[in-house]
Amino acid sequence: MPYKIAPDIYIYQSSMWQTNSAVIINETANLVIDPCYFPTEIRIIADFVSRKRSFNGYIIFTHSDFDHVIGHQYFKNFKLVAHEQFLLCDRNYQIIQLNDIDQTYYVRRTIPFIFPEPVITFQETYKIPIKGDELILVHAPGHTGDCIFTISPERGIMFAGDYLSNLEFPFVNFSPAAYRKTLNLAAKIITDYNITCVVPGHGDIAYGREEINDRIQSDRDYLTGLTEGTQDLLARGLQAGEIIEALSGLKYRNRRIEGVMLKMHIENIKILISELQT
Ligand SMILES: [Zn+2]
Repeated sequence: MPYKIAPDIYIYQSSMWQTNSAVIINETANLVIDPCYFPTEIRIIADFVSRKRSFNGYIIFTHSDFDHVIGHQYFKNFKLVAHEQFLLCDRNYQIIQLNDIDQTYYVRRTIPFIFPEPVITFQETYKIPIKGDELILVHAPGHTGDCIFTISPERGIMFAGDYLSNLEFPFVNFSPAAYRKTLNLAAKIITDYNITCVVPGHGDIAYGREEINDRIQSDRDYLTGLTEGTQDLLARGLQAGEIIEALSGLKYRNRRIEGVMLKMHIENIKILISELQT
């Protein structure tokens, strides 16, 4: 069963990484954000959407990571919308990762995955008018170069893609500087549009200013600790391996990063070292 967050907005959460798909049912357009992940889960979302006819259908991709783009083929005649940098992403890298995980979990995809070709792309912002609202899509690079936020001003909701999760610290695959700016952008959007609900790509929905601001702050604190730590150790002449060792105990939300997450944290340290050295 989907989870209803507004009269016409539903959230489906996958068993895979608690990945969230959003459905907006509207007389003007039905919209789906990141339909995912297992075939049975995508089928349920597609059946739900197909029962509510509308003039237009859109699929919005929050970014090009495979876990977010996997479901588009189940939605016939939907226009695919993404940031223009989506067209430049490393498709093979995404497909290799997808195949690895499908093999590991014996996932059978009877509709073989084809990487999506967005027909609507944009640079800074894009607006989709719907009855009683206008969705605003905004470029939000940092996690990847093609990340976007989707805002529903009327309902005070923001769909954040892979930002502001309560499960993951920032995964800075693209740029630490861009990531910091995007957190500031998120804070500005929350105020400007009076956002009271943030749907992250993974994990629990954030309700209320306090929870939303707490997530922004936790991510800022992590990035600040990481940046200052790396700067300091570089200034002291330490080598990359030593810096990684010294910073691997850095905390996120007052807890050490452990297990599989440590790998992502180490990737972040590496990308910071290279940012600060250039
Ligand atoms: Zn993701």
